[in-house]
Amino acid sequence: MLMFHLIRRITAIFKKIIIRAMDFVFPTVCPGCGKFIADGDAGEGKIVCGECFEKIKYVDGKICLKCGLPCPGDSCPGDLCDSCEKPRTEIYYTYLRGACVYNENLSGYISSFKYRGKEYLSEFLGNILNGYLEKHPEMTKVDAVVPVPLHWRKWLARGYNQSELLSARVAKRFNIKLDPGMLERKRWTRPQAKLTRQERFKNTDGAFEIKSGRQTAGKNILLIDDVSTTGETINQCAMALKNKGAGNVYGLVVARDLPERPAPLDISH
Ligand SMILES: [Zn+2]
Ligand SMILES: [Zn+2]
Repeated sequence: MLMFHLIRRITAIFKKIIIRAMDFVFPTVCPGCGKFIADGDAGEGKIVCGECFEKIKYVDGKICLKCGLPCPGDSCPGDLCDSCEKPRTEIYYTYLRGACVYNENLSGYISSFKYRGKEYLSEFLGNILNGYLEKHPEMTKVDAVVPVPLHWRKWLARGYNQSELLSARVAKRFNIKLDPGMLERKRWTRPQAKLTRQERFKNTDGAFEIKSGRQTAGKNILLIDDVSTTGETINQCAMALKNKGAGNVYGLVVARDLPERPAPLDISH
């Protein structure tokens, strides 16, 4: 076990060194469009170019009050969309929200953040979450911020859990306890993006559990993830929490993958 932790740590350190060296040798590349960011052409925090920053699309208009998806034609009878009105499987979260629309532009940042070791993007993406929460303070009245956990095999390959980095930004901003160890992913799941709705449910069903010894009874929790499509991953995390007596379980993701999305990336964990 000690050996495993040591290898994990060394892998993460080497990854960081190589990425820092690359960033030093080469000028800053916009993670959205891949172009070099010229001086004076930078958007927020000089992390993305001004043009890409303008393309970030926030979720606005009327949304389903449960799953947070935009209501077609801006109307949801009874404030819920059809699938939340008559859910085929139980919905465990109190409600789920996405700050932005998962468009081609945002998918560039998220894949750089997840797959190309650009951990520094957690600041930029974390600010998007914090901006949303400032406008929706109810979601910050919780006992802990909990990231959707990564399977240890993916953690080993990546060196970090992107949802944990985002959760840390939220926890710090709102002075909430960060509890990255509350949930554990007990089995491997396939990438959700390539599956049908029914397959997604089967894929994640019972994939999460509460770490033994963790007190969850009556606790209000804010779950954080980078992207959500059907909300099934968040729902399964919420199920594990609710089954152990948790109170309100909110879900917040940076990007909500809507029907008119670009070709899906591998949005698995
Ligand atoms: Zn750009
Ligand atoms: Zn809904």
